[in-house]
Amino acid sequence: MSVPPGGTIGILGGGQLGRMLALAAARLGLKAHIYSDEIDAPAFQVVAAKTFARYDDAKALAAFASACDAITFEFENVPAATVGILGWHKPIFPGARALATAQDRFDEKNFVTDLGLKTAPFASVESASDAESAIAKTGTPAILKTRRFGYDGKGQAKVSNAADVVNAFHAFKDAPCILEGFVHFAYEASVIAARGRDGSFAAYDPPENFHADHILRRSTVPSRLTHAQSNDAKTIAKRIADALDYVGVLGVELFVGTDGALLVNEIAPRVHNSGHWTIEACLVSQFEQHIRAVAGWPLGDPARHSDAVMENLIGEDARDWKTLAKNGGALHLYGKSEIRAGRKMGHVTRLKAKTGA
Ligand code: AMP
Repeated sequence: MSVPPGGTIGILGGGQLGRMLALAAARLGLKAHIYSDEIDAPAFQVVAAKTFARYDDAKALAAFASACDAITFEFENVPAATVGILGWHKPIFPGARALATAQDRFDEKNFVTDLGLKTAPFASVESASDAESAIAKTGTPAILKTRRFGYDGKGQAKVSNAADVVNAFHAFKDAPCILEGFVHFAYEASVIAARGRDGSFAAYDPPENFHADHILRRSTVPSRLTHAQSNDAKTIAKRIADALDYVGVLGVELFVGTDGALLVNEIAPRVHNSGHWTIEACLVSQFEQHIRAVAGWPLGDPARHSDAVMENLIGEDARDWKTLAKNGGALHLYGKSEIRAGRKMGHVTRLKAKTGA
């Protein structure tokens, strides 16, 4: 059953993604109820209904679910038990399977390669004694990553030999890891796509993404991908979404090889930072698209009417908000009370007349 205007979408997580989802819901006449374990969650500022509680508080979760018509989340590290409790009460999208797959880098890579899609070579590292055999599979240099709970480069170390792998593994407190061959990519790109409750599919034009210190700095559309590569990228997202019986927006991060090959780096089961430009450059943004899918509404048109460059405002970048406001572009500030190094504080999107696909 779809959620009609006036209904309430529950959103787990109160960061900038939850905030922009709530704003998009409001435009469609839907209410948003934010659940966060942070008292000053940026998303709390834009909604009437909020729950401040831990993610393992069964009573608070049940009360939250009873106040919502459908539930979604804005971050992928939601504990499986939380999703389980909520799922007893109300429909939750994109569902436990998508979440479980994206939460574990090793399971995720196996899922992707089982679909016949390409990734960097990879191997599991569960103990220090796996280092030699893992390096034999991936070659060097390689990147050791914790299987779970990594983001923005946290829990990652570049390694050149088996001894490095052992050291990094111990530095990660012997947590289960994945070793990935280092990809000498030409550039990075991503696909932001949506799948509706009825299996309908819509993908945005893939942006090209530039990272510094493992954090996204800039997304640009059009990217350098050819028309054929763009279509291939959208097909990759569709195959992943169909296989997961996915509902909502997902981001698929890609490495574009110097030979033009598209390698899947990571699946984000949520709206994605590299899709923020869709707010201004498309009729229906990724945030609205996600709310539509979760509410069981028809998906909107993902067509892009302008070229766009989205720049993240990270840490101290946001201090200069007056100059940013003066210099044009669409300024978004996330309402975070404290500036911290590496923290995403806002973004600016600049548009140009559309030149290509
Ligand atoms: P991730 O957290 O896996 O998305 O990684 C963050 C960033 O680190 C990526 O966007 C890349 O810039 C870089 N990176 C991650 N994995 C690899 C790899 N296997 N080869 C080269 N660069 C990588």
